[in-house]
Amino acid sequence: MPEYIGKCTSCPRNCGAERFGEYGKGYCKMGALPKISRAAPHMWEEPCISGKNGSGTIFFTGCVLSCVFCQNYSISSENKGKVITVDELIGHIKRLEDMGVHNINLVSPTPYIESIIEAFTKYRPSVPVVYNTGGYEKAETLRLLEGIVDIYLPDLKYISPEKSRKYSLAENYSEYACEAIKEMVRQTGSPEFFEDGMMKKGTIVRHLILPSNTKNSIEVIRYLDRTFGDKILVSLMGQYVPEGRAKEFPEINRTITAREYEKVLDVLGQTSLDGFAQELDSAMSKYIPDFSLEGL
Ligand code: SF4
Repeated sequence: MPEYIGKCTSCPRNCGAERFGEYGKGYCKMGALPKISRAAPHMWEEPCISGKNGSGTIFFTGCVLSCVFCQNYSISSENKGKVITVDELIGHIKRLEDMGVHNINLVSPTPYIESIIEAFTKYRPSVPVVYNTGGYEKAETLRLLEGIVDIYLPDLKYISPEKSRKYSLAENYSEYACEAIKEMVRQTGSPEFFEDGMMKKGTIVRHLILPSNTKNSIEVIRYLDRTFGDKILVSLMGQYVPEGRAKEFPEINRTITAREYEKVLDVLGQTSLDGFAQELDSAMSKYIPDFSLEGL
């Protein structure tokens, strides 16, 4: 079991930091053992991920990004959660599977990649494994997950380094995220589905439209169309709510307007990309799960 990591370079922060059982000296501050804040069925992912029974989400604490508008602020920045062993992680995976979820959905898992590989090497669930990430990943780290992960669910938040520096404190975000998505698509191939319409394998790239930033969204969509076309699905999200530190940035301290949403949706409609577009009226905090350690 990984109770000590001497020099962590799992993510693009490349801290080279020491990580002990329950705490670490790196950017993410996380220790070597998994820390989770929620392990429960979740109904608000894309229809082919949540289905009727829900997606078996395991929310990991800590994040390698620092998005000022983070919708999961309490677990990413306040580090709320419970430290568990790899065997306990396997227990949560089995419990969710017994509840009939359609997949096991690992949310913000990268700081714990060693434990995740160990868990899925010891126990392989009967449902697909989803890797749900903000997109700030190293392709070489993702290569370690080949044969473990069936479905990748990355964000592509920005193309512009200026935007990613301002809103996520990661100037090199798109440099890493674009290469990471290429590696994900290489591993999964084109989207495949079971007979009931649930996703079996593939990559869904999510993009959250930020207020006052439609130009960024259009750049992201054009990049995805040019680079991947029908090899991926795209999930366009209009449910932004100003959470976290968004009030410090007046231009993003509101929900998006119908005009902003339609402008981006129109561009998406002109491409060969397929996927999902979330209704604008879903811009409500009720869709953000309550991280009250449910299921732990
Ligand atoms: S996972 Fe954490 S400690 Fe490791 S490189 Fe990334 S931020 Fe640093």
